[in-house]
Amino acid sequence: MRRHRQSEPNERCALTIHVQPRSHPALVLNADFRPLSYYPLSLWSWQDAIKAVFMDRVNIVQHYDVEVHSPTFVMRLPSVVSLKTYVKPSRQPAFTRFNVFLRDRFQCQYCGSDEDLTFDHLVPRARGGQTTWENVLTACSPCNLRKGHKSLREAGMHPMHLPWRPTVHDLHDAGRHFPPNFLHESWMDYLYWDTELEP
Ligand SMILES: [Zn+2]
Repeated sequence: MRRHRQSEPNERCALTIHVQPRSHPALVLNADFRPLSYYPLSLWSWQDAIKAVFMDRVNIVQHYDVEVHSPTFVMRLPSVVSLKTYVKPSRQPAFTRFNVFLRDRFQCQYCGSDEDLTFDHLVPRARGGQTTWENVLTACSPCNLRKGHKSLREAGMHPMHLPWRPTVHDLHDAGRHFPPNFLHESWMDYLYWDTELEP
């Protein structure tokens, strides 16, 4: 059973994953001390993290310098927790708006712009095009408008890359160029290290 709550996919066109540092999220590691997921980064609210501690599902690995007080206990908020039971990680990255942007490196696939980004259906929806990894790509609004309901040939437009289904590894590669805007220092030991060791 997977009980982890993941951060919301980024709904806006921005280069950063929005993590609220003041909400003191806990980075959730699998029992092998790798993050449970990278995209999105596995984070729990401090409330969920504490619940999991009391349910004996996780070990506390690191703390914030912040305490919560209740009538019966005082506890430092965990900044990193690890699951006691190993969960098989998903091999498929989630199909989210953020991950599509990340795959396409936050660039319009038609003109290369990194502003005013939205999504384009290669085969337009009006013609039965699906919202899938293989048919959705990052486009700026002007290119998206220009293409409209036309096919690539009709529009005379050529994407840099045809959309594809990325692996976690692909996103990891892309993610190193677009790190989240807030990473607590206690998370650093658990992020990115596995790719840096690759030849
Ligand atoms: Zn464009």
